Amino acid sequence: MAEKKIKGTIGVTTENIFPVIKQFLYSDHEIFLRELVANAVDATRKLQALASSGDFKGELGELKVRIELDEKKQLLRIIDSGIGMTEEEVDKYINQIAFSSAGEFLEKYKDQLGSIIGHFGLGFYSAFMVADKVTIDTLSWKEGAQPVQWSCDGSPEYDMKKGSRKERGTTITLHIDNDDKEFAENGRIRSLLDKYCKFMPVPVVFGKKIEWKDGKSVETDEDNVINHIEPIWTKAPSELKEEDYLKFYRELYPMEDEPLFWIHLNVDYPFNLTGILYFPKIKERMAIDKNKIQLYCNQMFVTDHVDNIVPEFMTLLHGVIDSPDIPLNVSRSYLQSDANVKKISTYITKKVADRLEEIFKEQREQLEQKWDNLKLFIEYGMLSDEKFCERALNFALFKNTEGKFFSYEDYRKAIEGNQTDKDKKVVYLYATDQEAQWSGIEAARNLGYDVLLMDCELDAHFAGLLESKLGDCRFARIDSDAPGNLIPKEEEVKPELSEDDKKALDSLLKGVLPEGNEYQVEARNLGEDKAAVLITRSEWMRRYRDMSALGGGMNFYGQLPESFNIIVNMENPVMRKIWEDREGNAQLLRQVTDLALLSNGMLKGKALADFIARSEELLK
Ligand code: ADP
Repeated sequence: MAEKKIKGTIGVTTENIFPVIKQFLYSDHEIFLRELVANAVDATRKLQALASSGDFKGELGELKVRIELDEKKQLLRIIDSGIGMTEEEVDKYINQIAFSSAGEFLEKYKDQLGSIIGHFGLGFYSAFMVADKVTIDTLSWKEGAQPVQWSCDGSPEYDMKKGSRKERGTTITLHIDNDDKEFAENGRIRSLLDKYCKFMPVPVVFGKKIEWKDGKSVETDEDNVINHIEPIWTKAPSELKEEDYLKFYRELYPMEDEPLFWIHLNVDYPFNLTGILYFPKIKERMAIDKNKIQLYCNQMFVTDHVDNIVPEFMTLLHGVIDSPDIPLNVSRSYLQSDANVKKISTYITKKVADRLEEIFKEQREQLEQKWDNLKLFIEYGMLSDEKFCERALNFALFKNTEGKFFSYEDYRKAIEGNQTDKDKKVVYLYATDQEAQWSGIEAARNLGYDVLLMDCELDAHFAGLLESKLGDCRFARIDSDAPGNLIPKEEEVKPELSEDDKKALDSLLKGVLPEGNEYQVEARNLGEDKAAVLITRSEWMRRYRDMSALGGGMNFYGQLPESFNIIVNMENPVMRKIWEDREGNAQLLRQVTDLALLSNGMLKGKALADFIARSEELLK
C-alpha cells in the first residue's frame, strides 16, 4: 500500500453499529478483554501450528501475549507475536468479516442478549464497547509482508495505512472512553484477566512480578504471567496425584475447606468435555454457594452460571467443566432443550454416581467419615433427580443414633426381624435431635429397636421419598407415638369408655394443658409401669410442618396451630386414681400432665415454676 492512505466505510449495509454495541451489552462490557486476548492467543497458536507443520521456518521467539496499560492516557494494549495480518487480511477479516459478524451477532441476539451465556462471537468489535478509538498495528508472518496500521474512532469510517511495526504479530490499542474509565485501572484489568484468562493456553503477561523487599513491594524484572497454560483438567488422570487435585482446588477457592472427593471428567465422544468436579464440605443448606462450577470453552472462561447445563443439585459441586460442545450463543432457557447439553448433563450425573459408588465399594471408611458433609448433596440429588436416586439407593448410607453406618440393604436386613409391624411394614424409627429426643431413643432401644439419626434439613421430604423407594416400609419419628406403640405387632385392646366418659376425659385434660395448641386426647392401655400421660406428635402433621418451614409449597400446614396427641394411659395406677376421683386429685392431674410436657421440653416460664412449687408441696 506504499504511502497511500485508505479511508473506507466499514461494511456495506449496516449503518453505525457502534452505539448499538455499547448499548446492548452494557452490563457485560468487560468481556471485550477476553475476546481480544482470545484473538491474540489464537493468532499465537496458529503460528505454532504453522511452525510444527513446517510452513513457518523463522524464529518463533518468545510467544507471549502481553497486556499493557497506561492508566494516565487511558490506553490499553493487547500485544501478541502471532501470525499477524497482511493488508488484504485486515481488509477481509476486520473490515468485512469481523464487522459483519459483529453486526449479525447483534441482529440475531438483540432480544436475548441479557440471557446469553458468555457472549461469544462478538469478537474484535467488542473493543468498541469500552473504547472510542481502536488501533491495530500488525505485521504478518508471511515473507515480504508490510506492516499495516488500521484505526477507527467509533464512526463507521476507518483509516488504513502503512504501519511501522517491526516485529511479527499484532498490537491492538484501545483508547478507553470516559464512560468506561474503570477499564483503565490496573486493579480492574488484573481482576478481569484473572477471571477470564487464568487458564488460556498461551502465557499472558501483565506487568512485572512484585517482590517484598525490606518491608516494601518492589517490581522485579520477571514477567508477571497471570495464567497457567496447562491446567490440570487438560492432563491425563494417570499423570496426577492427590496433591495436584487439592492444590488446584485451593487455587480456585482459596477460602474453602478441603474438598471431600473429586472426579476427573474426560470424554471425547460423542461430545468433547474435560473437567474436574469436587464434592465440597457442605455444612448447612444456608451456607451453600451454588455458583462454584466454572464453565470454560477451550480454556477460556465463559460463565460460572451452569444451572441449565447440569442438573440443579449438581450446582452444589465445585470445579471446572471445559467443553467446546456447549452452545454459547443461545439463551439460557434454550440450553436445557439442546441435545448436546442433555447428553452432557446425563453424562455428568452418571459420572458422579459412578464415582460415589466406587467410593462406597472401595473406600467405605472414608465415605463414612465424610458422610455428614456429603449427605445433604446426596439427599438433595435423590429428591430432585430420578436417575441419580435410583443409583444412590446403592451407595447412600444410614447413620444410627449410635453413630454406626449401614447401606440401605444391610439396614433393612438388620431391622426387618424385630421392626416389622402388624401390617407387615418395616418401621424405620428415627430421631432428629439426639439430645431433645433422648428419652424416646432410650425407650426404643430398650425395646430392642434401632433408631436412625436423621438430622438433615431435608429429612422430612427424604423420609417420604424413601418410603416410596424402599417399599413396604414406614418412617416414624421416635416421638410420634408411645414407644411401645411405635411398631404395633398386634391389634391393641383399647380401654372401654362410654361417649360421655370420653368427653369427660377430653375436657379434663384440655383443662390442664397449655392454651394455643390443638390436642387429640385418647385413652389407651399401655401397661401399669408406663407413664400416666404421654404427648406425641403425629408423624404426618410434623412432616408437613417441617416441609412447609423449608418452603415446600405446603404453607397451609405451616399456618395451622401446633397439634399434639395426648395419650392417657388408663392402666397407670396414678391415672386410675385420678379418673376415679377427678375433683379430689386435680393437683395430681396437673402433676402428671406437667411431667409429660416437661419430657417434651414444653414446660416453660410460669408453668415450670408452678410445677416445681407443686412438686415440693407434694413431697412434704
Ligand atoms: P473471530 O475471532 O471470532 O473470528 P473476530 O472479530 O474477533 O472474530 O476476529 C476476526 C478475525 O480477525 C479473526 O478470525 C482473525 O482472522 C483476525 N484477527 C483478529 N485478531 C487478530 C490477531 N490478534 N492476530 C491475527 N489475526 C487476528
